[in-house]
Formats: sequence, C-alpha cells, structure tokens
Amino acid sequence: MITRFAPSPTGPLHLGHAFSALTAFDMAAQESGTFLLRIEDIDRSRFRPEWEAQIAEDLRWLGLQWPQPVVRQSDRLPIYAEALNRLTELGLTYACVCNRRDIRQAASAPQEGTPQVGPDGIVYPGTCKHAGHDLEDSAIRLHMNRALDLVGPVEFNETGPERTGIHRIPAEMMMSEVGDVVLARRDMGTSYHLSVVVDDAAQGITHVVRGLDLFEATPIHVLLQKLLDLPRPVYHHHRLIRDATGKRLAKRDDARAIAAYRAEGLSPADIRELAGLTPAP
Ligand code: GLU
Repeated sequence: MITRFAPSPTGPLHLGHAFSALTAFDMAAQESGTFLLRIEDIDRSRFRPEWEAQIAEDLRWLGLQWPQPVVRQSDRLPIYAEALNRLTELGLTYACVCNRRDIRQAASAPQEGTPQVGPDGIVYPGTCKHAGHDLEDSAIRLHMNRALDLVGPVEFNETGPERTGIHRIPAEMMMSEVGDVVLARRDMGTSYHLSVVVDDAAQGITHVVRGLDLFEATPIHVLLQKLLDLPRPVYHHHRLIRDATGKRLAKRDDARAIAAYRAEGLSPADIRELAGLTPAP
C-alpha cells in the first residue's frame, strides 16, 4: 500500500490537514506500506516556501515520516505538459479565453436555466468549444463528450466510511454536472486535476486518502486516468473536520493551526484525540 498527503502550501497546517495526513499515514502503517508527502505548489501566486517548511515541521512533530526526496509539483511542469499534449493529440482539448465573468454571464443566459455548479465551479457553457482559439496563452479545456466517447463512463472503488462502494458515473451526468473542465490554467500550464492524476500514477499511489470535499472531483481524475492509460487507485475520502459552528475548517482558521495548538502546549497525542483518531499505531 502506498498512500500520500499532498498539501498545497498556501497556509498553515490545520487540524483538518493533520487528520488527513494522519489517516493516510496510519492506513499505510497498518499494512506495512509507505506514506509519501507531495508538495502541490503549482499555484505560484499562493505558494509560500515558509508554509512548506512549517507544514513539514508540523507533520514531523506529529510523528509522521516519509521517504526523501519529496516530490514537488513545480519541478514537474514538463511532465504535465507531455500529458496535456497527449490529450491534445487525441483531439480532446480546446483553448478557452473566457474569464470567470464571461462564464457566469453565458451560463446565466435565459435559455440556459439555472447555472449548474460542478466540482470546478459553474459547468462551462461551451462558449469557446468551436472557436478555434490558439492553444498558446489560453486555458485548455477537456472536450468532455469526445473523452467519454473514447473511453466510456467512469467507475471507481471508494473505501471511505461515508461513501463506501463502487461508484459509476453515467456519461450524461459527467456532461451535465462536470462538463469541459480546465486541464491547464493559462498562468500555470496545468491544473490540480491533471497534476494530481499524473503524480498519483508516477508515485505508484495505491490508495488516495483525502477529504470528502474532493469526492466530487474523483470522476474527473478517473476519466483522466483512462484517457492517459494510467492505473486507477482505490479512493478513500474521509470526513471533514468542522469548527464549533459546523463549518468546514479553512486555511484562514488560524486558531486551528497545528502551530497554534503546539504553542498552547498540546501534544501530538492531544491532536490525534482532537481529530477523533485512535492513538498512534
Ligand atoms: N493539494 C490538494 C489540497 O491541498 C489535495 C490534493 C489531493 O489530495 O488530491 O487540497
């Protein structure tokens, strides 16, 4: 078993992240497997090296260990470009010049009904699909109907307690609820979806352990695995840690930062208990 924790260093490690990392670590430990850390730093505008250092330090303090060197997504942009090329060669991509406002307006046009919101925001209304924009200097989207025509509907095995079972997503649902997702942002040359799929395969991840907030993105990942001939891991989406009012913890909830708990004198065992985990294996 190979699991991973894949933080984006755009803020401190908080209790929700710690829960996620500990869950992935414990799962691997129980099977004498390997736990990996991967730094998802493709969003250069939000990344800070000091967050990366703090995250690693907090994880070590929690008792986690992982092999070196740590994979950093910003070092792998040519590899993502290659995967994107492959999809383009299959005729599955198109360039999009819409900004968020264009998309909101097009999706709210009277004939469109209520805009459908998917795992990536408003489902793209297709404005640029046949415009033939230059692939250079644009966002690149997946031609969802062609992709589904090529590889058929997606299916994955979920072992997380909330959604256990085999999930099959019909093509119509992928079209209406996910749509032509962005594979490469204009300023990045890749996207979370493309990078995560390429890296989980490259690192031989057998079990993707992450929060339920990413459950809805999983069909996109499985589709990309099929298109790129990559193995499909098992998925394990865990519950989210909420604050006292029931809201999901966000990066700005600094009161729940592990560094803040440490400063208050809590121990790693206290953190496990706070997150509702059993003592270290
Ligand atoms: N980097 C993502 C995040 O911080 C997690 C990616 C994943 O686990 O698939 O939310």
